[in-house]
Amino acid sequence: MAWSFVLGASVGSFLNVVVYRLPAGKSLLRPGSHCPHCKKAIRPWHNVPIISWLLLRGRCFDCGAPISVRYLLVELITALWFTFMVGIGFCLQTELVSPRFGILWAFVANLVVLGCEVFCGLLIFLDREKLPRSLMALILVSVLGVGILFAILRTS
Ligand SMILES: [Zn+2]
Repeated sequence: MAWSFVLGASVGSFLNVVVYRLPAGKSLLRPGSHCPHCKKAIRPWHNVPIISWLLLRGRCFDCGAPISVRYLLVELITALWFTFMVGIGFCLQTELVSPRFGILWAFVANLVVLGCEVFCGLLIFLDREKLPRSLMALILVSVLGVGILFAILRTS
């Protein structure tokens, strides 16, 4: 459960990048994170999900420009989403026989991914009042995946 929280916080950190860069048509990988105000690269130890925002009290280490609380909230919500879904997975596991565990966790993983995509879509829509087509396609694929795996889990 602790591991899923850490993983979720890291994914949340990446979702912040996606929400900021995907609609702008920028690369998701390069350049690395930098302060939009002073343009200085953010040091790895100032880029730890959740913890760094709290330690820096929501301000850039170099120039003191405020960093939106939304970054923290997105990391926290994603971390809780991962932890919650892994908890649900463990609960459902008690109702299944072990050969079905693979399908169950594939279902949980698909649902976790779908949640992240919808969350990204929601934030991008709030910012720009439009949705990138690539994200809509991903959401559609995930909905299909979740539906198919759910059907397999229900029958047999
Ligand atoms: Zn700065």
